[in-house]
This record gives sequence, structure tokens and C-alpha cells, in this order.
Amino acid sequence: MNKRRMDIIHTGKISDNKGAYILGFRLAKGEPIRIGKLGNFHFKEGFYLYVGSALGPGGLAARVRRHLRMTKPFRWHIDYFRPKAQLTTIWFAEGMKRFECAWASALDRWAFTSCPVKGFGASDCSCTSHFFYVHVAITPAELNHLLIGYLWACSHIPINTIFI
Ligand SMILES: [Zn+2]
Repeated sequence: MNKRRMDIIHTGKISDNKGAYILGFRLAKGEPIRIGKLGNFHFKEGFYLYVGSALGPGGLAARVRRHLRMTKPFRWHIDYFRPKAQLTTIWFAEGMKRFECAWASALDRWAFTSCPVKGFGASDCSCTSHFFYVHVAITPAELNHLLIGYLWACSHIPINTIFI
């Protein structure tokens, strides 16, 4: 499937409304990656979760389209990690309220995650990080099941899932 077609299929299911999202990445093999000014870090093989919000024009669909694109000027920490990993899953919820930091703090406390880079994605807030490593051996379906259940328990917001 070419990239343009992937864009259309997946963002077609995401509304133009504003909201918060979590990107699920799979890193096939461990490697060092430079994350902008934060520096170089070694990332282990496995799953990673990135929490963001899309409150600008075009809402969630526009933001997800940007994350799907591989070539672009790097602006956020996640842009440095993105080309190295496979984007496998997107979770999102519509709404103006900033769920982003509530989700990040919930993921920070979650038993299945750890924080590989302090301050990742959290330059404009007081969260430890908006980026987490899932440190259990797990399938994408199991991760989805656990994450949806956990976020519901934490925030009581209906969350949509898109598998890529
Ligand atoms: Zn935050």
C-alpha cells in the first residue's frame, strides 16, 4: 500500500474535530536515536506510546496526517523518533479539553510502562514525559485491550482505535 493511500484510508476515519491522541509505535530493533536537543538515547526493541493533542486547524485528522508523513521539517521530539519506528496504532478522543496531560500522567503511573526519555514531548507542561516504553512482551491486540481499559478507568472518555 503506498503512503498516499494509507493517508486517505486512515485519516478518513478520523474527524476534523479537535482532540487528544496516542500513537503506538513498534521499534523492530534496539538502536540509539537522537531526539533533538534532548540528545542521544538508546531505545530498546518493542512498543512505544506517544501522547499528543490536536487543537489547531484541521484537528485530529490534520495532525495524524502529519505524523503519517515521513519527510517533513522536524518540529517536535516525536518527529526524530518517527522515521525509525513503525506507527501501528492510533487511539484518539474528540474534545476541546486537554486530555493529553491527564493521559500522560496516567501512563507514567501505569505498571506496564516506563519512561525512556524525561521531558520527551513535555516542553510546554510539567509532565515527566509524553512518551513511554511498554516494557512487557505483548501483542498489538493485547496492548490495545489493556490501554483502552486503563484509559477508560482513568478518564471515562470514549476512545477510538485505528490499526494501521
Ligand atoms: Zn503534559
